Amino acid sequence: MRARHVVLVALYAAFRLSAASSAVYAQDADAWRAPFAAGEEARRSGDAVVYASEMANAAEAMPAGHLNRPFVQYHAARAAALDGQGDNAVRWLRRVWDEDIESLMISFAPFDPAFSAISDSSGFRAVMDLARDLSLTTRFLGGNVHLIVGAGSNVLVKVAADGVLMVDTGFSSALPALQGAIRDLGGGPIRTVIVTHPHEDHMGAAAELGVLADLFAHPGTAAAMAEPYVFMEGLSIPPKANSAMPDFQIAGDTSIVFGGEAIRVMPTVAHTAGDLSVYFTESRVAHLGDAFLPGNPMMYPGTVEPDAFLDRLESFLDAMHPETVVVGGHEEATDLDAVRDQIGVTRDAIRFVRASIEDGLTIEETARSGQDRFAPQWTAFFYQLFKQPRD
Ligand SMILES: [Zn+2]
Repeated sequence: MRARHVVLVALYAAFRLSAASSAVYAQDADAWRAPFAAGEEARRSGDAVVYASEMANAAEAMPAGHLNRPFVQYHAARAAALDGQGDNAVRWLRRVWDEDIESLMISFAPFDPAFSAISDSSGFRAVMDLARDLSLTTRFLGGNVHLIVGAGSNVLVKVAADGVLMVDTGFSSALPALQGAIRDLGGGPIRTVIVTHPHEDHMGAAAELGVLADLFAHPGTAAAMAEPYVFMEGLSIPPKANSAMPDFQIAGDTSIVFGGEAIRVMPTVAHTAGDLSVYFTESRVAHLGDAFLPGNPMMYPGTVEPDAFLDRLESFLDAMHPETVVVGGHEEATDLDAVRDQIGVTRDAIRFVRASIEDGLTIEETARSGQDRFAPQWTAFFYQLFKQPRD
């Protein structure tokens, strides 16, 4: 499964930012944007009929395999439910599951008041039960570190003689499957869990695992765990139970020794207020959380001074063995060069947007003049970021 929840969230933010100028770069691949925007407007004004029809249009218009498909299909499902079309709602949820881009997005549905009228129906329950049969895949990366794919985010496990260290937990609904995969790897009890950031696809099982294991997370993640997790406007899940709260908060570069290996953990706050990156110094494997996603042309310096974040990440990479295998929060494992390339593109885009603002160009002019090199939603994203006073 290729799950990329946070790409969705970032793109979602970006196309909200750029909605006003979407006509500038309308293309066939973007045919879903207009009905999606219309659907969002209907959602906000409480018009379930238009919300349902426009989200269905948007979902149909979206190219196969598009990373935002599950998100738009999820909207189509909840809109259908609100519009009294229970069967269609279940069908859309089923498509989210079957298309396998981010199947576990359906795990939000039981918390979503939009589905309250059908939450007891057999069709809805049957879709919710699909996660029980989740199949995960496992890949050896180096040393005694393995990647487990399919739990909602990339989970790394280090299988040592006296137990298992994990990086990220996936969604809560994936935990039984994850525990099965760890057993198949010969792993003993889970002793230590490092959470890369406070998004549900990465920390979903923190409360369950916190009962069994020592939990490490950034103070920003600890703070976020104590608040409801807002998936979208009108849909949040309750704060984490006390067992999810980190036993150890990591606010600066830290080394954890586990199974005889030094594991470096470094704050890489950018994508959220609580990002950590992890490097297994002997296994030569790194998990950069959602600070790095191979399929996304940009990094996420949305919450911090971008240059400082990129410098910091680069210095962390410099300290790694040149042949380190790198995973982001989602997608395939790759290498250090891929991360460096992406940092380079991000720096270019930032330079370009800053110069453009300096020259007095509007957001539309900036997006248009850069569109051969940078996706317009990203130039729009940076434009907004640099135009806004920072707090
Ligand atoms: Zn993620």
